[in-house]
Amino acid sequence: MQTLRDYRYLVKNRKHLTSEKITSLQLKELQRLLHYAKENSPYYKNNEAYQVVDSWDAFHHLPFINKAIMMEHFSDINTCGLDKDETMTYALEKEKNKDYLGYYKDEYVIGLSSGTSGNKGLYITPKSMTKRLPGVFLARGGVMLRDLPARILFCLRVFSQGFQDINAPLLKLTYASTMTPTEDLIQTMNDKKINILMAPPSMMRVLMPFASRIKYPLKKIITYAEVLSSADRLQFSTIFKAPVIEIYQASEGQIASPCKAGKLHINEDLVYVELYDENNHLIKEPHIIGHKMVLTNLINYAQPLIRYEMNDMIVLDEPCSCGSSFRTIEKIIGRRDDNLWFYDQNKKPKIVYADLFARWIITESDMIREFQVIQDDISSIHLCLDLLGDYDVSLLKQRLLHELHALGVEGIITLETVKLDLPRDANKFKRFISHVSIDTSST
Ligand SMILES: [Zn+2]
Repeated sequence: MQTLRDYRYLVKNRKHLTSEKITSLQLKELQRLLHYAKENSPYYKNNEAYQVVDSWDAFHHLPFINKAIMMEHFSDINTCGLDKDETMTYALEKEKNKDYLGYYKDEYVIGLSSGTSGNKGLYITPKSMTKRLPGVFLARGGVMLRDLPARILFCLRVFSQGFQDINAPLLKLTYASTMTPTEDLIQTMNDKKINILMAPPSMMRVLMPFASRIKYPLKKIITYAEVLSSADRLQFSTIFKAPVIEIYQASEGQIASPCKAGKLHINEDLVYVELYDENNHLIKEPHIIGHKMVLTNLINYAQPLIRYEMNDMIVLDEPCSCGSSFRTIEKIIGRRDDNLWFYDQNKKPKIVYADLFARWIITESDMIREFQVIQDDISSIHLCLDLLGDYDVSLLKQRLLHELHALGVEGIITLETVKLDLPRDANKFKRFISHVSIDTSST
């Protein structure tokens, strides 16, 4: 019954809340979270900068935190009395043994993430919240009522009890690690009559050459964990003959989900997202690429994340035809340090978005199965290509140089053909690896 109640509540919110109602609901939730954190989290309790706020203006003056601060003060920030070292030992042990089920201290799901600099993040979800995941998953996971009964294959680097708890009548979830041999994945899909495939884009590309061996028609493909480029979306839907949607989820929260129209909406009742431009002005208009994205998770009382700076950046879009007042996302830019940098004619560094660069590569030839771009210096990139068959890579090089020239930048591009596998550890497959550090404050 709780599942149904949660489902109805979330569906109603997205459909019917007006912008004014969203604003007042968020302020109320933020006040409640702050009040709880002041009472139960030693970190917020002992920090004078945190006071219960009575207005949006006051809220927007609270300090920012980030992953480094969150991890440094992990033991003090969480409201469950969990010790950082003990929790980390537990999480690392589980990961080493690929044992992703079970609760820590019989009470918590511990998520472990690693960032580019290798700093690992620990994320707590209490059992009381994982029990409510089916409702959230149904309302915001991209699966619609019309998709039921849903037999889902869920591919992720790691699994956890939180996902296991999603199994419900009419909703069967089969988990596969992204390291599962492709033959076995196809076998599982056929045995379990999978009709919804959930996988990161890099995994979808691994499955592409095997698409014809999938016996049961897919109703839908749902991607996450990596940016889904528009070229990816088109290619997957053509090859797998199913619509492709994405959900935007991070360790820090369930940030955005697609509506019936397939548009990504920020989950305004689960997270509060602030976007800032380079002058630290709040961005409210669509189509503006900002400099900072700040997230407050409205429902995580176990580990209150209040004004948490994310590495990602999103661009807002116009209101959606579905009628929801939840803000829409035009695109997810991904991490700032995952983008590419080139000198323009005036020798000034200029950013070239990874999403755009990826589109040039993917649309150039169907023979390119996967690629990886490594940038060690500004204006110089090395491109590794994993090909499905014969293809003259010099054509791609010409195309890329031409596209860069059109943007007013020049670069040196070297290419090689290699076999690219998904990483064997818990890291995401990264298409863009940059070792260039740029002072972006002036760009
Ligand atoms: Zn919509």
